[in-house]
Amino acid sequence: MRVGRSSQGMTLLILRDGQVPVRQLYLSKPVMVCVPMAALLSISSLIISLHLRSADRIAGLEHQLLQQQLTMEAVVSDKNEALRRLQSQVVSLSKESKSFKARLGTVSALQEQLEHFLEKNKLSVSAGNSTKLSSLSWDRSRKVGGEFIAVHDVSTDALARETEDDFSAMNTLLDEMQKQIPAQISTAQAHIEALSGTPSLWPTPSRRITSSFGYRRDPFTGRAAFHAGIDIGGQVGDPVYAAAAGKVTAVQQDGSRGKYIIIRHPNGLETWYMHLNSAEVRKDEDILKGQLIGQLGNTGRSTGPHLHFQVMKKDEAVDPLPYMN
Ligand SMILES: [Zn+2]
Repeated sequence: MRVGRSSQGMTLLILRDGQVPVRQLYLSKPVMVCVPMAALLSISSLIISLHLRSADRIAGLEHQLLQQQLTMEAVVSDKNEALRRLQSQVVSLSKESKSFKARLGTVSALQEQLEHFLEKNKLSVSAGNSTKLSSLSWDRSRKVGGEFIAVHDVSTDALARETEDDFSAMNTLLDEMQKQIPAQISTAQAHIEALSGTPSLWPTPSRRITSSFGYRRDPFTGRAAFHAGIDIGGQVGDPVYAAAAGKVTAVQQDGSRGKYIIIRHPNGLETWYMHLNSAEVRKDEDILKGQLIGQLGNTGRSTGPHLHFQVMKKDEAVDPLPYMN
């Protein structure tokens, strides 16, 4: 191809191989300017449009990324807040467990004192129970009521573990207390009962009443006579117990009552025990309810082994049966 210039335009000669004639293409000046301009414009607009599309896309992606980042930040912030709350709960729980442990230690010590008191004042009463109470095993090395370790010194994990251990130790102690306290209560009740001054305890194992309180036919004379107590038939040597706590005011023997014991009780009542085989107490001795005081016998004015049991109220004989349990 050859290019020829004129002042108005441009002539293009298109030469191919020998068989094809030469073609002449005339391009006027405006065409010469407009065609490249149009080409340049369309390329530029293509580039601009591509650029705009990618900028749009990038902005979209950036927006999406920002949204995700914000969401993540909110989640992390929530988690941090929850963690802070949990940590504060662990700390407060740990403080509470320390205080609770200290109080439990005090209660445990009180229970131990009660146990020692009951042991020391163990009463030799037939009705008393002799349950051996095992000692509480509160480990004092665990620093009951001890110093509180500052939270910043230990991790929340360690604090939580320690608190868990504390609660487990407290549970064990409470289990033991739950097992022992009922036994201690019955021991204490037995002690209180033993100190009771009201004659309510049946004085000998036999329950056979051979003669009741009131007027009866005298077994010796056959005439009507007042019987001031009850006769309980039994075997010589059967134990005779004090019907209530009190002080022995008489241990004597005579032809009518045989060997007899009189006990004065704190509420003013007296109980008399007659026809005994032997006496196991001395005058002025303080005795407990249910304590062995003598042996059933057949001494004095008696037709067979029995205990004559009498209750005196203001120096007057009263029916013992309403007092008996
Ligand atoms: Zn009698």
